[in-house]
Amino acid sequence: MTEHLKTLIAGQWRDASGPQYSTEYPFDASAVATLHAATVADVDEAVQAAQAARLKPGWAGLKVNERAAILHRIAAGIRARFEELAQLQRLDNGKPITETRGLVASAAGTFQYFAAVCETFEDAVTPQRGDYLSMSLHEPLGVVGAITPWNSPIASEAQKMAPALAAGCAMVFKPAEITPRMAIELARIAEAAGVPPGIISVLPGKGSLVGDALVRHPLVKRIAFTGGTSVGLGIAKLAAEKFMPVSLELGGKSPTIVCADADLDHAVAGVLYGIFSSSGESCIAGSRAFVHASVYDEFKRRVLAGARALRVGDPSLAATQMGPLVSGSHRAGIERYVQLGLDEGGQLLTGGRRPKGGIYDAGYFYPPTVFEGLGNDARLCREEIFGPVLALLPWSDETDLIAQCNDNDYGLASGIWTRDYKTALRLGRALDTGTVWINTYKVFSISTPFGGTKQSGMGREKGKASIAEYMTQKSYYWGTNESPMPWAGLETTK
Ligand code: NAD
Repeated sequence: MTEHLKTLIAGQWRDASGPQYSTEYPFDASAVATLHAATVADVDEAVQAAQAARLKPGWAGLKVNERAAILHRIAAGIRARFEELAQLQRLDNGKPITETRGLVASAAGTFQYFAAVCETFEDAVTPQRGDYLSMSLHEPLGVVGAITPWNSPIASEAQKMAPALAAGCAMVFKPAEITPRMAIELARIAEAAGVPPGIISVLPGKGSLVGDALVRHPLVKRIAFTGGTSVGLGIAKLAAEKFMPVSLELGGKSPTIVCADADLDHAVAGVLYGIFSSSGESCIAGSRAFVHASVYDEFKRRVLAGARALRVGDPSLAATQMGPLVSGSHRAGIERYVQLGLDEGGQLLTGGRRPKGGIYDAGYFYPPTVFEGLGNDARLCREEIFGPVLALLPWSDETDLIAQCNDNDYGLASGIWTRDYKTALRLGRALDTGTVWINTYKVFSISTPFGGTKQSGMGREKGKASIAEYMTQKSYYWGTNESPMPWAGLETTK
């Protein structure tokens, strides 16, 4: 039965004021939930309430240990509903249950981590250069907005909510229109954990309307955005007009390098996981595999065998490795890229056609797809596809390899497979990406900053320094003079 979802706006659980719409389960296109989209008036109401709530003693007056205790309770609240949340996340975007369990675990860990950061973050007393004591204190930035995509909602939303709450901010969420569920559930858990009314609101709906209004709102002091590069660019331009800081976690076209001395068992497993897990709907998908010519044929043979053996199917089953894509329109976009790859002269080695029969006819499935024979300058190798499409590219000259890896608009992540530590470090230093994985891929730690270079964005999420992104610095000078300041030439009355 389809569930009706209310959302949290300005401290009230209610329908947003815009039209009703429904979300669907990508496995069989069945309706999952109905809810109302927010309006520009809802944005204003949520932001005004957030501004009022953040200044009240119930939030502004909390000591860091008290805020940290709330974050610990949110982590516990997520863990208490672990399996339920993993299943809800699966229904929202069709990711396999093993992956959504990982996302829920990471969200709980994120709140636990930022509880520790909140309690241990220190301000500075700066060195004394005159008759004063100088110090630089951090204060909450104010009301901040979070705009998130559909591919890993709970993880991406926790990465924004946890540091924002740790810093003492209020946060208004604009989740992806098609995957609003996790932000709503996080708000519910946060409320039960003691976050006061108004501090968190969740506004589902269209980015061009709700997201845009949130970015433009004069009381919103920061936007934490994860999504596509063109939307991120638009947000950056609007933010510039307000002198508003933004963090932009954007797209990618990540290269993976397989060296001649790589352990091929590891490299093949890592490349398959890097591109085909999450059905390739991952910003860090390793979509360009540069394989040394001396091992190219063997690598290709093993990658193709591995790709054909991947279990594409029902995301509720623990054995499933790839679920459906998120929507029919997204699959159509991937199909256009596959056709483009063929038009550009690429050879399709496996996949490239919708699977047929049974569950495959109802859901938005697409198989692991591998191309070869394309140059790094082909559009299939340059543009983000956000699907299970891998291009194999042979290499033999290291200088040319690095030039090709870096000759891309994106700079999110890269992978290197080699047994030689010097090669790994040399290549790692030469790659213009925010993350470099060496003999592993797509592993994450909340304590390690994440973000991109070039059109993959700016700013970093995760890591203890990221709490400061939600704070502003204020400097204080405390006079310690025994006499009046000499400039006015006044006699002391003492
Ligand atoms: P998207 O940019 O279309 O949407 C992201 C969010 O922005 C959604 O909530 C959307 O409603 C909102 N939005 C759209 N237009 C807006 C506007 N004019 N103003 C304000 N908000 C607006 O991206 P998507 O299709 O949901 O997600 C896929 C993209 O996200 C891919 O490019 C992927 O690489 C990227 N992504 C990046 C990371 C990262 O950490 N770098 C992680 C996950 C996804």
